[in-house]
Amino acid sequence: MSKKAAQKQPDRPRVKIGFWWITLLVLFVILFYFLYRPASAGRVISWQRFQTEMLSRGAVEKLVVQNQEMATVYIKKEFANDSAFRAVMTPRWGQGIQPGPHYRFTIGSVESLERKLEEAQRGLPPARQVAVEYENRGDFTTWLPWLFFMLIILLSGRWLLALGGSGMGGSSVFNFGRTTARLLDKDNKSTVTFQDVAGLEEAKQEVKEIVDFLKEPQRYTRLGAKIPKGVIIVGPPGTGKTLLAKAVAGEAQVPFFTLSGSEFVEMFVGVGASRVRDLFRQAKERAPCIVFIDEIDAVGRSRGRNTLYSGANDERESTLNQLLTELDGFGTNSGVIVLAATNRADILDPALLRPGRFDRHIYLELPNQSERKAIFGVHLRPLTCAAGVDVDFLAAQTPGFSGADISNICNEAALIAARKKKGQVEKEDFIDAIDRIIAGLEKKSKIISPTEKKIIAFHEAGHAVVGWMLPDIDPLMKVSIIPRGKSLGAAWYLPEERQLRSLRQFTQRITAALAGRAAEEVVFGEVTSGAVDDLEKVTRDAYTVVAYFGFNKTIGNVSFLDSTGRSEFQKPYSEDTARLIDQEVRALVEGCYDRAKEILARHRAALDTLAGRLLSKEVIFRKELEDLLGHRPQVEAEIPLKPDTQA
Ligand code: ATP
Repeated sequence: MSKKAAQKQPDRPRVKIGFWWITLLVLFVILFYFLYRPASAGRVISWQRFQTEMLSRGAVEKLVVQNQEMATVYIKKEFANDSAFRAVMTPRWGQGIQPGPHYRFTIGSVESLERKLEEAQRGLPPARQVAVEYENRGDFTTWLPWLFFMLIILLSGRWLLALGGSGMGGSSVFNFGRTTARLLDKDNKSTVTFQDVAGLEEAKQEVKEIVDFLKEPQRYTRLGAKIPKGVIIVGPPGTGKTLLAKAVAGEAQVPFFTLSGSEFVEMFVGVGASRVRDLFRQAKERAPCIVFIDEIDAVGRSRGRNTLYSGANDERESTLNQLLTELDGFGTNSGVIVLAATNRADILDPALLRPGRFDRHIYLELPNQSERKAIFGVHLRPLTCAAGVDVDFLAAQTPGFSGADISNICNEAALIAARKKKGQVEKEDFIDAIDRIIAGLEKKSKIISPTEKKIIAFHEAGHAVVGWMLPDIDPLMKVSIIPRGKSLGAAWYLPEERQLRSLRQFTQRITAALAGRAAEEVVFGEVTSGAVDDLEKVTRDAYTVVAYFGFNKTIGNVSFLDSTGRSEFQKPYSEDTARLIDQEVRALVEGCYDRAKEILARHRAALDTLAGRLLSKEVIFRKELEDLLGHRPQVEAEIPLKPDTQA
């Protein structure tokens, strides 16, 4: 059959159904008409006319009172030729006499009719008196709304059923147990390819292999290898997990089902499990194919935790159980591969991750400098950039940024350039975009008193001077006292990518972080709340040094970090150790603070000049710092620290 013909075919039954519905409707109307013929048959007259022209002449055969409100009059047959009644008694079509009712009039009430009749017929023998019958009859018009109501219910029921039957993705109350997965196949393909995924070479290699498994299973099965059933992609937010899966969908020549873990969970009990069943049923029908479940932690969270009081977890657990059963259910070579993504692998149920289910794990990490360069390459492609935009510089400026952040920077830079009505996106626009993403929007309109401004300037100058003098602190790029986001001032560093940090680096970091407060004390003799963010960082670093990294001689080489989050102990140490940790943290922080003050005291002149320049210019760049403070000295690292904090 040609494609056109195949497309037209489904129309035919619809025409048939429409015809039968109309026929049924017409039959209904006719049936109702005959069952409930209008009680309004007969000419309308008044009581006076009835009394004088009919009753008094003895022409009335009977009076039928309908529904206690309308009296219908039947005229005797012998009056058929009477000139007064001929018109109503002659049938419109055919021969004979019209059976009646011939006239009608409304009665006020049955009692008043009976009273009037009695008065009118007083004295007449009972045999000649008019017989009155009472009838309760449904009126066609009263049934009509009901008829339409029923019809609407029937039609809407049929419509809902039709929607329910429309298959995957259709939404109706009748298909809530069906999977909500979207199917990408030949006709409805993902446009993302591996070209759009920058970096992530190892991960790309792994997922490319999945596509190969499906395309050429024999290559692997011939050697006795089992094709993996499930592959889980784990990584921090924005590292390209979904993007990678989309690229698989775009490159694989097989159907690709995609849905989010949260789509299994509904407010109806049992829906999750039945959606899982339906998803795998459809996947098996279309094998070889790939099923992608994004944010699998929504459904795959470890069972048996915190289930005591919440019934909601039962539903999630039964969904997870069904998922585990389905993963077990299909054979390794059945041609369905399940791809899942999460950024919380630690909370996933171990049963889900064991070999035989999600047996392949792909770990994505935040991109390194060369990967960031490649990601910038992808996202700069659609932008019209000026010649000065240097991808190496941008990649160097963005350590710790995810792929999603980089994509955001590129877009933000284009928006900034457009706002300034530029023809191209320039380097400054990228720098502005990075600043904006790191520190928030500039708030020049924030009202700050001159005294506060002075304190902020010295605070930031303190960070800059101490940071400059400590060789392990990342190179400073610029200092600003323009309020941004929540902060009143900020210093920008160019972080180096490090996998390891020594105690010396940690102590220098703490010292530089405390330098803002130290400057306030050295200059003004009192400190302000402006250092709260710094103190938060300092506290975190100091406790990490003492309690996690085993850097402290008194505490020793122990770490109280529980990276699994599943420790049975809340505090696996005694009160004495806790006290010791606190003491050591305090000693470390105090040592660093003293050192910051010491450096500032020695470079007081530079501190004052820098603060003065900040007050007049608001922003100072690296070049000016270098002019003021000279090259970064290495010797300062040799300044003796207190015994415990010395590297
Ligand atoms: P989440 O865990 O929050 O869902 P995710 O890891 O699934 O995040 P994605 O949705 O894949 O992140 O990535 C978000 C966006 O970041 C992508 O649309 C893409 O623009 C960009 N991106 C991330 N990684 C890369 C990369 N390696 N190459 C190119 N673009 C990337």
